[in-house]
Amino acid sequence: MNNAMEANKQHEVLKWASLFLEENGREQHVAVILLKHYLQVSTAKFYMNMQEPVPEKVLSKYVAAIKEHATTGMPAQHLMGYAPFYGREYKVNEHVLIPRPETEELVQQVITAVNDVDKSPTIVDIGTGSGIIAITLALELPNAIVYATDISEEALTVAKENAVYHQAAVKFATGDFLEPILQRNVQADVIVSNPPYIAISEAPFMADTVKHFDPKLALFADRNGLAAYEKIISQMAQLPKMPRLTVFEIGYQQGKSVSDLIKAVYPDSHPQVLQDMNGKDRMVIIKK
Ligand code: GLN
Repeated sequence: MNNAMEANKQHEVLKWASLFLEENGREQHVAVILLKHYLQVSTAKFYMNMQEPVPEKVLSKYVAAIKEHATTGMPAQHLMGYAPFYGREYKVNEHVLIPRPETEELVQQVITAVNDVDKSPTIVDIGTGSGIIAITLALELPNAIVYATDISEEALTVAKENAVYHQAAVKFATGDFLEPILQRNVQADVIVSNPPYIAISEAPFMADTVKHFDPKLALFADRNGLAAYEKIISQMAQLPKMPRLTVFEIGYQQGKSVSDLIKAVYPDSHPQVLQDMNGKDRMVIIKK
């Protein structure tokens, strides 16, 4: 089947899309994600309906989306307008980083650790983007008071919409990392952040799906990717007390550098570097 329009049954359409994506160097599983989205069916129904025809209207939208993804690299999440995170769906667009599975692990670490340190903590999510971390924590830890900051008004607009949609009580504040929290004299018990951490020199080696579509503000940081941690940690030093728990997502080669930055401000602390599901260093966690 080399022409999309000759295909009609769901399995034929999928086969065309998978091959087309492969020929264009794209991941084939995007064919399933997008077809399920345009058909608006559950996973179970999707697999039961393989012999059914795809309605023409759906087919033309689907073919356009597959072609757009194949040729420009526009992520499926941008084509659909939403992305899953921790079992919920979030609005995403070009102003926010698309949620990554590694960040679900970051959130899981925070939830587990918070239950050890404090039952009703004040949590601050720095650089919240679409709001996924703050909103998940507010919903999973109903006794917590959750703040979320971002310097991007456009990102906060998306985050606020997501909080309303999920009925999560998150207090949003615009500003540079921890700045709005310092201004409000809030004592943070827990700090969590997935800041920009990619070195600008890595850009030539990155996939177009990431570097042309995720906001640069959310990806790249100066000082070999460490500038955001430096800034956040120097701001943390201005808090009246060290937070009881701090959890950062990090690049896989940044465990030691970020730990050293922490130890420069809190010499008695014991930063721990944790790995993600791929076995790569992905988090630094500091318990007081
Ligand atoms: N984890 C993202 C990626 O690999 C980077 C996001 C970030 O810098 N916080 O594309």
